[in-house]
Amino acid sequence: MFPVLFGGCVPGPSGPSIVVVTIDTLRADHLGSYGYFRDTSPNLDRFARESLLFENAFSTAAVTLPAHVALWTSRYPNDTGIFRNKYVFSPRGIDPPRLFAQWLRDGGWRTAAFVSATPLGAETGLPAGFERYKGPGHSMRPAAETTDRALAWLADVDEPYFLWVHYFEPHGPYAPPEAFRRFEADAGLDAFLEAREFADSTDADVRERHDLYDGEIAATDAAFSRLVAALQARGGWDELAVVVTADHGEGLMEHGVAGHVHLGREQLHVPLLMKLPRSLGIAPSRRSEIVSTVDIIPTLVANLGLPVAAVVAEEFEGVDLLRESRQEAFSQAGQSRHSLVTDAWRFVEHPDRVQLFDRRSDPHELLDVAAAHPEVVARLRARAIELAGEATDSGVLFEVQARPSGERRRQLRALGYVVDPD
Ligand SMILES: [Zn+2]
Repeated sequence: MFPVLFGGCVPGPSGPSIVVVTIDTLRADHLGSYGYFRDTSPNLDRFARESLLFENAFSTAAVTLPAHVALWTSRYPNDTGIFRNKYVFSPRGIDPPRLFAQWLRDGGWRTAAFVSATPLGAETGLPAGFERYKGPGHSMRPAAETTDRALAWLADVDEPYFLWVHYFEPHGPYAPPEAFRRFEADAGLDAFLEAREFADSTDADVRERHDLYDGEIAATDAAFSRLVAALQARGGWDELAVVVTADHGEGLMEHGVAGHVHLGREQLHVPLLMKLPRSLGIAPSRRSEIVSTVDIIPTLVANLGLPVAAVVAEEFEGVDLLRESRQEAFSQAGQSRHSLVTDAWRFVEHPDRVQLFDRRSDPHELLDVAAAHPEVVARLRARAIELAGEATDSGVLFEVQARPSGERRRQLRALGYVVDPD
């Protein structure tokens, strides 16, 4: 599919440093660079102007851990076996390794991760490949503190390095620091809510949800700004690869749904910004094609010449976004609930019904047209089942443990997750 190097044959670290920032629960349409009416994200927007901005990027799942494991493996949740936050998995001893950090560390990169919430805690299996993996301590840690830790590590690390920074602010409960409570329901919000036909756009709770959620984005944006400033001060910014994305979005009561997990557009449509080394000669631009978060790693591997075993790269679900295109973006919430996005349509399969939305005439998904287009439903449903069905053929990558510890269960509950005892 594209040239890859074999980890064992690489004479020494060869390649650029890489920073990936995942912002939990950040829906794309609340960023200035994605057309939002409020100035929530001036620093992310500035970064976007020197990046490839993918306007139609979709996550593989609307749940933190499954979405991140899919990102780091370029495999859908049915392949990783990780569908829920309470799961933990064992990547050690799996040869060849399946997680991005493992390939880079084996290839000589210095590696560190600073994550801000329990769903990505050190017990999950995600630390494999990171020489330093700093979890949240408690259920969550503010972006400013996570940034401090990342900057301390960066201060004396050699090139090349791989740094993953995870911010959690936009996740509920929405409680931005006072300095970022700068948004108040206004005429712009009226228009935003009316376009989406909120059941009651004058509802104080709905309006406050937007104000506070936007404040959390602004707080994250400020932390991101400090991270970028430090990376620029180190030197080598032009050759640094930096990716910013989200694990999933968030419902703010459109379609009657708050939060995530659900397969709504607002839960699956995420920002994706990629700044690649200047020497690759790729001009910043906005790209409108459909992409998936499983495409991020294959794009980095193909264009940065990263050391990953061919057998692993051949099984990527993602494509190199600079050379290939995809026809659809697939998302899962369990093995029988999926979303499939194409240029024209978004299809959703729930346990008891299907939905179909016309993306061109109905971007906010106000009208389910499944009954009017049975042939489209049949075609997209068959494709979604085919993608989900591949789980049975390829099996799961990891040994999955679905019983969290009592402490992990307690911390997940503190974040509002329903954690049943099984
Ligand atoms: Zn999340």
